[in-house]
Amino acid sequence: MHCDTSLCYGLLQYMLHVTMAHAPHHGTIRQRMLIPGLVFTIHAYKFLNGKTVKIDNFSPLLYITLLLIMKLPFNLAKRFVAGEDFVSAAPKVSELNELDIKVTLDLLGENVRDRKQADSNLQHYTDLLDGIHETGLESSISIKLTMLGLDIDNTYCHDNLFRLLDVARKQNQFVRIDMEGTDYTQSTIDLFRDAHAEYGSSTVGIVIQAYLHRSVQDIPDLAALGADIRLCKGAYSEPAKLALQQMPAIRDAYKKFAAHLLEHTAFPRMASHDDELINWVKEYTTEKNIPKDRFEFQMLYGLRLNTCRELVSEGYRVRVYVPYGTEWLPYFTRRLRERKENVWFVLSTMFKN
Ligand SMILES: Cc1cc2nc3c(=O)[nH]c(=O)nc-3n(C[C@H](O)[C@H](O)[C@H](O)COP(=O)(O)OP(=O)(O)OC[C@H]3O[C@@H](n4cnc5c(N)ncnc54)[C@H](O)[C@@H]3O)c2cc1C
Repeated sequence: MHCDTSLCYGLLQYMLHVTMAHAPHHGTIRQRMLIPGLVFTIHAYKFLNGKTVKIDNFSPLLYITLLLIMKLPFNLAKRFVAGEDFVSAAPKVSELNELDIKVTLDLLGENVRDRKQADSNLQHYTDLLDGIHETGLESSISIKLTMLGLDIDNTYCHDNLFRLLDVARKQNQFVRIDMEGTDYTQSTIDLFRDAHAEYGSSTVGIVIQAYLHRSVQDIPDLAALGADIRLCKGAYSEPAKLALQQMPAIRDAYKKFAAHLLEHTAFPRMASHDDELINWVKEYTTEKNIPKDRFEFQMLYGLRLNTCRELVSEGYRVRVYVPYGTEWLPYFTRRLRERKENVWFVLSTMFKN
């Protein structure tokens, strides 16, 4: 039987493609995966029985396929997504808090094009702030402006953002605006500037992507403003005229921006799972005598928990980005595309269960 890495990877990519094409937009994970699951069964059967792959012994592959389909609704995203709602995500946050790891909660979802959905997202974000406040969890929230109506109208999105920040300020909570694709970079920074002028760095922060050419200017500009900045590499597929394409160049940019933030901002957030960058930040801060409690490492839920624990034990501040909600598919797809190893995490979770 020829069942190698690329076949399994191809299978999973194919499965995601089919899933994306057929998943309905509403309902629980189980409801949303029922139709794609059935479609996938048919396609996978055709694929495995076709001429694409030479199969000497069909049964193990059939078993894997059936297992994937049966377990799909519950376990596919579980590795990276804490639950379908706040109630199921909260215990995961508590567990991280017990390890001295802070959290930023992210209600999954992306672009909305009607006001009803944006209003409902605003309500969900507000409920999330209330939930964190009531439970006393050590968590901020991360939001996406496209979920608050950035595609609909700038003023409307601005009003929604300010309504949310009113609640956050009243409750002494912090809201970070995630950075999305380049169609939104300028409008996100503009809205952030307005929000920052009104609410300040104790209530609102932003994200800058190291791979964007424009970050050479955005980093010093926002640092001069006193902004609270999370630095990440950038997760969206962008053209070469807008973004660096090669990892060594992205890492170099990241280091340059990290140095600037460490030198010029009060409490920068270094978001990466990359050992080269983590070690570089450790060495740079040691060399420059920057105390360990003057910045923070950030990682995504489901990745590198041992590294987070090690960093905490060494005296560093660590925060984990914990996504939850039913709209998990685009987020999950980004994580799988980012690193082949993530596919194996997902597969191993399924077999363990
Ligand atoms: C907290 C947080 C918030 C983010 N917010 C945003 C945002 O608002 N906007 C946005 O565009 N992007 C965001 N991102 C995603 C980010 O831009 C990158 O796409 C993502 O973090 C992958 O880059 P990386 O540096 O973590 O590692 P990668 O570039 O994926 O990997 C580089 C190297 O790091 C090591 N590595 C990576 N992952 C692992 C692992 N799990 N185990 C062992 N080694 C590993 C490997 O050596 C690998 O070769 C965020 C990321 C984090 C962590």
